[in-house]
Amino acid sequence: MDLHTHTVFSDGIGNIRDNIAEAERKGLKIVGISDHVHFFTPHLLNSYLSLIGQAKKESETIVLAGVEANILPEGVDISYDFRKKLDYVIASVHLYLEPGRHDEYLELIKLAIQDENVDIIGHFGNVFPYIGYPSMEEYKEIVDLAAEYGKAFEISSRYRVPELDFIKLCIKRGVKLTFASDAHQPRDVGSISWSLKAFKKAGGRKEDLLFSELL
Ligand SMILES: [Zn+2]
Ligand SMILES: [Zn+2]
Repeated sequence: MDLHTHTVFSDGIGNIRDNIAEAERKGLKIVGISDHVHFFTPHLLNSYLSLIGQAKKESETIVLAGVEANILPEGVDISYDFRKKLDYVIASVHLYLEPGRHDEYLELIKLAIQDENVDIIGHFGNVFPYIGYPSMEEYKEIVDLAAEYGKAFEISSRYRVPELDFIKLCIKRGVKLTFASDAHQPRDVGSISWSLKAFKKAGGRKEDLLFSELL
């Protein structure tokens, strides 16, 4: 599966059909389209959903409609009106944080975990090389909260995160995982080999994946 791909509906360069064609070519079981939510007006979201809906009927790969929302200090920027039309929502931190402020980052992640419009936390920890790494205790707190709220984490091949120890913790506590290329061009759709390798290394099995019932 690849649940994180962008198209011309946000900052990607391919159209929805191109992404799906590449997913079919690479033999994916599931492909998700997940454009950045702040590019959408209600009208644009409807065009997006109707194109994805059409593709769902025609494709041999299962196509899911998602978005990638932003985790902001005041909350995740997606409304229930948008959320209810989608198969899933990824929430990611795209803010600049000062070096040393990984605690601030973790507070944002906790906010998103507790948000009922969110399903998956995107590229968790891609900024740790700049802001500093949390302790194992802090990782445990995050994973426990995700288990309590039924949230998943993606394993991002683009950013090569989360760390192996974090993925192992997710598996141990029953927190679901997804694979994510974060492709911004069609040829990168399905480039999830790092995700797959990390997942296997951490001892993941099919049932540890979100949407495993579709696989
Ligand atoms: Zn992102
Ligand atoms: Zn993205």
